[in-house]
Amino acid sequence: PGAKVLQPKREDSGPHGTSRKGPDEAKVQALLGRMTVEEKLGQLQQLTWAGNTGPGGGQTEAAEEAARKGRLGSVLNIYGAKYTNALQRIAVEESRLGIPLLFGLDVIHGFWTTFPIPLAQGAAFDPAVAERDAEVSAKEARSNGVHWTFSPMMDVTHEPRWGRIAEGNGEDPYLTAAFATAKTRAYQGRDLAAKDRLAACAKHFVAYGGAEGGRDYNTMDVSEARLRNHYLGPFRAAVKAGIATVMASFNTISGVPAHGNTHTLTDILKREWDFDGFVVSDYTGVQEMIAHGFAADGADAARLALGAGVDMEMVSTNLVDHGKRLLKAGKISAERLDDAVARVLRLKFRLDLFDHPYVDEDAAISKPGKDARSAARETAARCMVLLRNETSELPLSTSARSLAVVGPFGDSTDLLGTWAGPWGESFPAVTVLDAVKDAVPKAEVSYAKGVDAGGEDTGGIAQAVAAAKAAEATVVVVGEASALSGEASARSDISLPGAQEKLIEAIAGTGKPFVVVLVNGRPLTIGGWLESAPAVLEAWHPGLEGGHAIADVLFGKVNPGGKLPVSFPRAVGQVPIYYNHENTGRPYDPDNKYTSKYLDLPDGPQFAFGYGLSYTTFDIGEPRLSVTRIGADALRKGDTVDVAVTVRNTGRRTGDEVVQLYLRDPVASIVQPVRRLCGFRRVTLDAGKSSTVRFRLSAEHLGFWTHDPAGVFVVEKGEIRLYAGNSSLATGERTLTII
Ligand code: BGC
Repeated sequence: PGAKVLQPKREDSGPHGTSRKGPDEAKVQALLGRMTVEEKLGQLQQLTWAGNTGPGGGQTEAAEEAARKGRLGSVLNIYGAKYTNALQRIAVEESRLGIPLLFGLDVIHGFWTTFPIPLAQGAAFDPAVAERDAEVSAKEARSNGVHWTFSPMMDVTHEPRWGRIAEGNGEDPYLTAAFATAKTRAYQGRDLAAKDRLAACAKHFVAYGGAEGGRDYNTMDVSEARLRNHYLGPFRAAVKAGIATVMASFNTISGVPAHGNTHTLTDILKREWDFDGFVVSDYTGVQEMIAHGFAADGADAARLALGAGVDMEMVSTNLVDHGKRLLKAGKISAERLDDAVARVLRLKFRLDLFDHPYVDEDAAISKPGKDARSAARETAARCMVLLRNETSELPLSTSARSLAVVGPFGDSTDLLGTWAGPWGESFPAVTVLDAVKDAVPKAEVSYAKGVDAGGEDTGGIAQAVAAAKAAEATVVVVGEASALSGEASARSDISLPGAQEKLIEAIAGTGKPFVVVLVNGRPLTIGGWLESAPAVLEAWHPGLEGGHAIADVLFGKVNPGGKLPVSFPRAVGQVPIYYNHENTGRPYDPDNKYTSKYLDLPDGPQFAFGYGLSYTTFDIGEPRLSVTRIGADALRKGDTVDVAVTVRNTGRRTGDEVVQLYLRDPVASIVQPVRRLCGFRRVTLDAGKSSTVRFRLSAEHLGFWTHDPAGVFVVEKGEIRLYAGNSSLATGERTLTII
């Protein structure tokens, strides 16, 4: 259909695209000129430390020894000014060249102040929440000697079974890219030398979220077009935002491990995108190419990784062990080695580590501050999604005289989610029970656990039922323990674990008012109890101030406005199910048996992407376009289409709505998704008030990547349908014609 090539994306610039060299380049090159091969290889080595978590484990002694010899570039899992300064002193004062070490840590959604998990943040449909997290995290971590965080994670995924879905922003590349950009900018600020900023790391590069069956680290076979249209976008956005580093992923990509993948690491990341930072391997990821069946041995793994574009090896030691011999044998090039080392050194200069290698031990932040706590509380409330409120059970009245809190997470501090605190050392979350007591000090608040978070024992249910019967209303807090999501935490059954559904059914049986609060790290399949629950609030793993934030929403201090960043399946057998899928030749039709639906399930997910209720109601108008016809050439030259959407609060309370804009390209040379998000804006409106939200669509929104491995992006002539609404089921429609 008249394909129009917009731009071949290859922007070749030197051996590995290191064209944008900063003001420190002369220093970098001078230093490089003085380094031995061992010292160069040393800069490419990162080891893990374990001093904070007690003796044993980690590579602490090896790290000190290597630092002394100038054969170490970076250390992970170290924090605390006392520890980082001591190790830094060895590198700076005892090694021949005194090159400072770079300290990295997984600061994923908070350092001392744990914010809601990234999946929850995606539900805010407001990248400002990620900025608040990143700013607080950067301040706390940098003051404790950390320079670099392995965040943001930007793996788009269609797999709720995959435990690491908790670490990203869900199933949509556009939403994820918006968060990746915001979080990168907020971590890094304008100047990495500032003492309250962190270098960021875009991970995991790439397509890790495509793990077959949701089993962690698993195989991924993907076409070039799908790789680019579904998985690469957020990384490209992060590179545009100036991200300092990128981490390779554990998976293979169409048979080639990400750590040995020249196409993704060098052709796309470093050449096409001109990425000027460095690529770090994932934990022993270089070594793992042997188990994958791609590298013959450690030397082979080192050769393949460096050759493909990995610049620093985390934990395994193949480059330092074999690099010198590989170089002599001509199996790695001196230019490529220097390129990798220069990339690492550049970041150390940018962070001002040569002039200021130490942190002020007296200025280290040692606990969550008051402002940080209130940011975490507001953020958590902003991430919550009201899934159901049939009889307007919510918000609960603050004049209630008696309330019951039941369920295994009602009086639990296990609300932080995966990767809480630096290497597991965290401050406990505020519990829902304590927060409910705070919110309604005059009410009598009882508590009964009912069942455990995982076990099958139903012996405690009677007590919970008695508590519910004696109270005016009951808050049932159920979900998943933090350990059930995150790395290596896939589940084959994604319903509420143990006997928790039985607890909800028993409470429903009392006939008394109750609400269900879910705390979880992934979409859950919601059982038959849904119909009997008057109200359901998705709170995710809400973080340090979780209890307070939940109470803020339950009692109406905050009107919930979050939306699902991921589809909630009806049953695990439907997985993968995602809104931006392609049509079959027999799209869903209730009157036609011969469609791709399951015989034993209704079509579609339980809750759609973008869905979420409020304590008020909104009306969203159709999208109004500035032009209805536009030339493909004009788009190529930078022309845009403005889209205006009016939203009105038709209820009786102030509330937030997320205006969402979707598009569909109904006839294309590569079949396009039935819908894809191309704009969103969260607005706050008083009762009766309206506002007009404006979006600007450019070629970038309207076109797509083809299968061409050289990176070809096209905008084709023909119709584009635009839909505005408050979920991916939006109906307001208009057509734009590209001529
Ligand atoms: C994870 C990364 C993490 C790294 C360092 C790996 O196992 O996949 O996301 O940054 O460990 O802790």
